[in-house]
Formats: sequence, C-alpha cells, structure tokens
Amino acid sequence: MKVLFATSELAPWVKTGGLGDVAGSLPAALRAQDVDVRVLVPAYPALAQAFPDAVEVARPHWLGGLLPTPGLKQAVTPDGTPLLLLDYPHYFDRTGNPYLGPEGRDWLDNHLRFGLLSRVAAWIGSDASTLDWQPDVIHCNDWQTGLAPAYLRYLPGRLAKSLLTVHNLAFQGLFDHASLFELGLPDASWHLDGVEYHGYLSFLKAGLQQADAISTVSPSYAREIQTDAEGMGMAGLLRHRAARLSGILNGIDTQAWNPATDPHLPNHYGPRRLEAKAANKAGLQVEVGLDLRDDLPLLAVVSRLTEQKGLDLLLQIAPRVLELPAQLVILGSGDHAMERAFASMAHRHPGQCAVRIGFDEGFAHRIEAGADIFLMPSRFEPCGLNQMYSLRYGTPPVVRATGGLADTVVDAADEKHGNGFVFGPATAAALLDAVQRAATAWRDPALWRRLQKRGMARDSSWASAARHYVDLYRAL
Ligand code: ADP
Repeated sequence: MKVLFATSELAPWVKTGGLGDVAGSLPAALRAQDVDVRVLVPAYPALAQAFPDAVEVARPHWLGGLLPTPGLKQAVTPDGTPLLLLDYPHYFDRTGNPYLGPEGRDWLDNHLRFGLLSRVAAWIGSDASTLDWQPDVIHCNDWQTGLAPAYLRYLPGRLAKSLLTVHNLAFQGLFDHASLFELGLPDASWHLDGVEYHGYLSFLKAGLQQADAISTVSPSYAREIQTDAEGMGMAGLLRHRAARLSGILNGIDTQAWNPATDPHLPNHYGPRRLEAKAANKAGLQVEVGLDLRDDLPLLAVVSRLTEQKGLDLLLQIAPRVLELPAQLVILGSGDHAMERAFASMAHRHPGQCAVRIGFDEGFAHRIEAGADIFLMPSRFEPCGLNQMYSLRYGTPPVVRATGGLADTVVDAADEKHGNGFVFGPATAAALLDAVQRAATAWRDPALWRRLQKRGMARDSSWASAARHYVDLYRAL
C-alpha cells in the first residue's frame, strides 16, 4: 500500500500545533505497519536547512490558473520516513509561522501557497505524475491540503483515492471567488457540491465534500461536529457524509515524550521512580522565578492562548486558584489581549504565578515534568495532545469533557480508571470546582500516586491509531 501524506506542518521542524506533531509521528507508525508512506510538505527554511542534500526528483508543471512550476525534492528523515519537499522559495522561503506574516496576519497569498501544495498532492496521485512512485491514497490534513480531493475530482485518468483528516474544523481556508481562477479550478466546481461555501471558496469544505473518506482525530469529536452546535457550519455536510466519517484517536510520540529519557529534563523519572519528579518541580520553580515551595500544588498550562482553549475561564478564576493556595505557570501565545491579561496577572503575583509568552518546545517538556496538575479547559478539542503528555508525565490533567479530552481522561471519581479531573459546562465555576477537587486530591499522597500511575500506564502509542488508518486505506 502506497500513501502520500500531505501536510503543511512537520514536527520537529515546523509546528504550530497538533497537526505538526501528528505529521511528525504517524508516518513512522504507518511504516511499521508496512505502509509505503511518503510525506509531502513545503520546503520552509527549517526543512530546507535540515535537508541540504535533498535531490530534485520532479518538476510538476501545467498545474493551471496562476500556479507556478515548483520543484519536488526527495529526502529521508532520521527515523527513515521519505519526504517530498515542495520547493518554491517565492512561496515558502519565509521564516516563522507557516501561515502568518510578521504582523501576525495571514499571508495574502495563502490560497496560492496551499493551493499549490494541494495541487501537487493531486498531481502526484494522477497519471500526469513523472515520479516513479504512484500512491494508492492521498492522505490530506486540514484545510491546507483540503483542496487536493477537489483537484482529483476534476483531473482525467487513473487517480489515487483520498482521505481528509480534520485536526480542527475551526480553520476552514476561506478565500474569495477570484481565487477559483487563480487556483485553476473549473467554473463547474463553483457549486454547492463543489468548493463553494456561502459565497466563498473553502478549502476545507471542498475536501469534506470530495474526499473519498473523512476522518477526525477522536471518536467524540467525530460525533460532536455532526451537531449544529459544534459543527462550525459544516454539520449538515458532515451528517450527509456520516457513513464516510470516522474518528481515530491520535497517539503521541512516545520517544520524544518519555520522562525516563527526555533530553529536555534535568531529572529523569518513571512510574517506579516518581520521587524524582519533585526535583523537576524545584527546577521549574527556579527557572521561572516561582517561590521554592513543595507544599503547594503547581498548576500549569501550555497552549495556544485562544478562546477555543477556554483560558478566558482560567483568567476569571485565577485569583481564587492562587488563594487555594497554589502556584501557576503558563506558557503560550496567541490572542494579544489574553497574552497581556496573563502577563499582568504574573506581574501582580510574583513568586506565585509565572507567565511566558512564546513557543518553546523544551520549556513545554519541563513544564509537563515539573507541574503537579495540568489545565485544559477547552471549549472544544478535536483530540488534544497535552493531556496525553500530562498523563504520561504523571501530571494529572483537569479537562473539560469534550472531544479527545473526554476520550482520554477519566475523572478521579471513577476509583478503578480515574486518571484526572473532568468537568462539564464551559463555565468558570465548573472549572474552579474541578481545580479545587484536583488540589484536594493532591494533598492525599496515596490517592495522588494512584492517579499518576494510572495515567502513566495508559498506552498512548501510535500503533493502534496506525492500524485504524491502515483499515481505512484498505477500505478505499
Ligand atoms: P492545538 O493543535 O489545538 O494547538 P494540541 O494539544 O493538539 O492543540 O497540540 C498542541 C501542541 O503544541 C502540543 O504539542 C503542545 O505542547 C504544543 N504547544 C502549544 N503551545 C506551545 C507553546 N507556547 N510552546 C511550546 N509548545 C506548545
């Protein structure tokens, strides 16, 4: 089975969130299941620098509209996964976030940049391809490659099947009508059954409409997005395609996220050496300038700072949380007003609350290891990775019962399976109640150990997810 995994992010080189992590670890798990997978990703500077010896293997041309002729370069990652780097410096030789310019706004030519990525994925899956490798399935991810199934529909000849995985339905890739021509899509595609969405061209809608199969990253999210309340305008379409829609829970990279070997940690530990976690807590307190207190629970957040993540709820209750008493450490970036609100909270509570605005992989690992309790009060969460990292790092998470959070965290009230704290309504009061329960449980060492050990024992590896994807590819 040959699969082209098309993605706009690839950890550890280019990552803004969960998609980058998934792209960085699922392909290797698929290869372990004997799938011949290649990853198509733009040659951003970080990737061009990481693979300076990549050789050009094709130049897809006549792609239509205003799309240019890029190069395709082949390389292999250290874990043995073959890459196809989409080389078009005018589009991709831009540093920083793959989607945003220096002002924090979308690049104006994102439709062309990711239209090219989608179009080249379709080219590789068509008879026009000059590669000596023809995929059976194009596995697309989110809106950035959502147009590939639409292109495939309008191309002649023998074509690969397509699967679109939705990592977050909120990002829909909306562009104006003029982009239809620029992207070389036929007029006939400007239709309810095509790429049109309420007067706009939507990359995501196009993919949801045209892909041979759709998946999303947890069973609960697959159900939720079919409801009008959580379907982000796509619920009707998703209900219509329900027979083609499945939910496959993400795994995590259990090598990169292993407290026994994690190179970012000053002190390694595991379920049988949990005492060593305390040294990571002290190290974290020193690193961020919190008071060295082992008698207070240390609560943590690593997240995009957006409304989706429910962190406005945390802002509302933060003074009460600190009065529990507890300490709080936050790493994140995103919404500027929220960044300022968290920064000013840290300013008002020195020694007790520390906030770092930015994206810092190593620091994220040290937080997971050093904190006692992890907070994820998301309004919606397609899968969520940090709660799984937290479970693995013996840092029981407090989560809202939504999407992948509901599928991975079991409330401590369940004495057999509890590994964290789960609350229902997206309200400050419900979050505060769950945080209070967690802080109380933390003061009961025997109970806490049980929660930690259960979380650490959870199998979050990719093997089971990879098997589900193989079944999906086969069905196609
Ligand atoms: P989403 O994809 O919605 O942002 P996920 O929980 O699925 O949320 O994945 C987020 C990933 O990004 C995790 O690996 C998390 O550790 C990481 N992350 C988010 N914000 C930061 C940050 N400021 N610094 C470092 N890592 C971050």
